[in-house]
Amino acid sequence: MAKLQPARGTHDLMPADMRRHRAVGDAARRVAGLYGFDEVATPIFEFSDVFRRTLGDTSDIVTKEMYTFVDKGGEEITLRPENTAGVVRAVLSGGLLQQGPLKYFYFGPMFRYERPQKGRQRQFHQIGIELIAVPEPLGDVEVIACGWAVLRALGCADKVALELNTLGDGESRAAYREALVSYLRGHLSALSADSQARLERNPLRILDSKDEGDRRVVADAPRFDEFLTPAAREFFARVRGGLDALGLPYRLNPRLVRGLDYYCHTAFEFTTEALGAQGTVMGGGRYDGLIAEMGGPASHGVGWAAGVERLAMLLAAEPPAPRPVAMVPMGEKAEAAALALADRLRGEGLRVELGYRGNLKRRLEVANRRNARAAVILGEDELARGAAAVKDLDTGGQSEVALDQLGARLAQLR
Ligand code: ATP
Ligand code: MG
Repeated sequence: MAKLQPARGTHDLMPADMRRHRAVGDAARRVAGLYGFDEVATPIFEFSDVFRRTLGDTSDIVTKEMYTFVDKGGEEITLRPENTAGVVRAVLSGGLLQQGPLKYFYFGPMFRYERPQKGRQRQFHQIGIELIAVPEPLGDVEVIACGWAVLRALGCADKVALELNTLGDGESRAAYREALVSYLRGHLSALSADSQARLERNPLRILDSKDEGDRRVVADAPRFDEFLTPAAREFFARVRGGLDALGLPYRLNPRLVRGLDYYCHTAFEFTTEALGAQGTVMGGGRYDGLIAEMGGPASHGVGWAAGVERLAMLLAAEPPAPRPVAMVPMGEKAEAAALALADRLRGEGLRVELGYRGNLKRRLEVANRRNARAAVILGEDELARGAAAVKDLDTGGQSEVALDQLGARLAQLR
């Protein structure tokens, strides 16, 4: 039998974790809503082809990280490693492209078979937005601005920095790729085995390598910006102009790349130094070629995804644990009254817990253990007068309150 441990790279979200997790998701949903993005949820598993086609056969995700299995019907299924592919698949399945612009927000679990470490899990969660069927650079600006606004809402704006790059259009990329491959071929023996293998299939990814030797070679590689077509240069200028107009500071990072052909123009990341090696909290960019790659018409997309666990670690303030009111009946008759009263108070929106047994002292102990803010002590004499004693468990003060005033009085306690 399996050990009673969570599977490697997975985590339980117990209430305190879940509060942080929710705080991230709720703030992101709310802020994305202000920008007009509506929440969607696509299935957690898809036909494997959905990811193979969109992520490309040479990406790390497809070659090493996918959780793939054959189901009982013989279908090859993959647990989603990211959500852009699922959202685009949903748009195509639903025939929604005619109605653009499409604006979606998502929040949910993703699965990648990776080596677990701090900020890197096998089941993790992402929030993200996708803006589909918008070719204009203003779309890129709004997508980045929305990401920034989410980070601000979480109180971590001062811990993150925006890095920005352009991958140009198809023509720019083809020219750059050629120059890069010919440069790298001249330094083949200095490259890591991984990078040597990537040279023909996916050379742009080498720019992003973490290997020391690769980095030395890459430092003198030709720069993308020398290969941008005038149109691509103009597009990037408009993205930067928009960010400047918003007063959103960024650092140009020519090494920020995405290996796949359908990525173009804007690539960006929000990074932090507060989390050690796993410093990217949000990554995104434009993926105009992806929809056609999946069998749809030529269209456009731009979006970002952010790691909820990493953002939860960055959260400025611990979300407060809600504190209940404890009902403390004295004697059995009062127990029935406590049940009814608790129900009424919950109807008024209060969090109310019953001590389930014991004498007054014992029930107050449980109330304190549950971190109750106040106890409502129901004695038969008080009940007969239509009242109860409210004990403030922080100050110890106690006073009698008429039952019909109870909700209002308890709501004042913070
Ligand atoms: P990394 O370089 O850290 O592997 P990535 O390029 O694979 O990141 P993306 O696919 O762009 O990441 O995913 C967007 C965000 O999702 C990341 O910036 C990160 O915050 C989060 N993320 C990605 N993989 C994991 C993981 N295994 N565990 C926790 N968070 C993750
Ligand atoms: Mg990764």
